[in-house]
Amino acid sequence: MNTVVLKVDPANPEPDVIRRAADVIRAGGLVAFPTETVYGLGANALSTDAVSGIFTAKGRPATNPLIVHISGMVRNHPQVPQTHTVPDVSEVLNVASAWPATAARLAARFWPGPLTLVVPKRDNVPDIVTAGGQTVAVRCPNHPVARALIRAAGTPLAAPSANRSTELSPTRAEHVLKSLNGRIDLLLDGGPCSGGLESTVVDVTAEFPRVLRPGLITVPMLEEVCGRVEFGTASGGIARAPGQMVKHYSPRTPLVLADDADAEHQRLREGGFRVISLGHDLIYAYKSISGDPEEYAADLYAVLHELDSGQYDRIVIEMPPDTPEWAAVRDRLTRAAAHE
Ligand code: AMP
Ligand code: MG
Repeated sequence: MNTVVLKVDPANPEPDVIRRAADVIRAGGLVAFPTETVYGLGANALSTDAVSGIFTAKGRPATNPLIVHISGMVRNHPQVPQTHTVPDVSEVLNVASAWPATAARLAARFWPGPLTLVVPKRDNVPDIVTAGGQTVAVRCPNHPVARALIRAAGTPLAAPSANRSTELSPTRAEHVLKSLNGRIDLLLDGGPCSGGLESTVVDVTAEFPRVLRPGLITVPMLEEVCGRVEFGTASGGIARAPGQMVKHYSPRTPLVLADDADAEHQRLREGGFRVISLGHDLIYAYKSISGDPEEYAADLYAVLHELDSGQYDRIVIEMPPDTPEWAAVRDRLTRAAAHE
């Protein structure tokens, strides 16, 4: 398969480019596109055949359910600018059989944005999307290209990250090509993703919202909206969600996490390894960014992609502090460093 790459303006996507991509989706094909978290690999969420293409291209185990992306409607409201996007509940109810009050509150606060809500699924959502479970994960992304594509395709998009299973997530178009060139129909190159980490996943089917995967929307941010928040694993008959697999988001070069990067670096060097290490401030120096968790998240995968293509036997990273705002970064680093 030849993968077509089209440049797209991330702020004002060109209608003819979006139309071409939407045609591919409607024909049952696969389109990689930028979102505010990472690049997604999209297919028509309501077609078993189209979605099975995602699993083949990624080499993804069928036990891993996918997130369904909706576009959000542009509504006119006297208090908000004309372009403000308000997710319309009717769009959610295309794929969900219920919309719990907690979901409505969280969506009102964080959509469009990097928050995925797990709700009871509607019958029209194929089993392949939900790994056979009775719940569906839904998100309204905050990226003009993603939303324009979903709207033009006229269908929700199932879209995991646009990379081979267990590998590093892509935050740049070149990362997608490195992993999936020749395996997907089309790549929309909209430049770097601003968020850089996958969405926070919250199950709202039980009494209290349950965080299944930490992300850019932090626990304190969730608590502010709904008070008590729990942590746990997926319900609704879903075995094990992808972000919950121990080894995930991994570079090919083994990654070692350390409390003291310098000491670990020294130890590995003496063992004869070619090592590159990033201390808690070194990783910032490397990219000239500050100690801000959001900036760190935005650059983390790009740094790992870059180091992974260097001639190293080991990558050492100093663990950031164990505080809520670093939870998502620590989660991804831990999985990236896991062996299986
Ligand atoms: P990704 O591969 O990055 O798109 O990640 C998908 C994430 O969505 C996983 O980490 C799961 O936690 C979550 N997920 C998708 N569908 C469901 C579902 N029905 N129930 C629970 N979690 C889900
Ligand atoms: Mg992924």
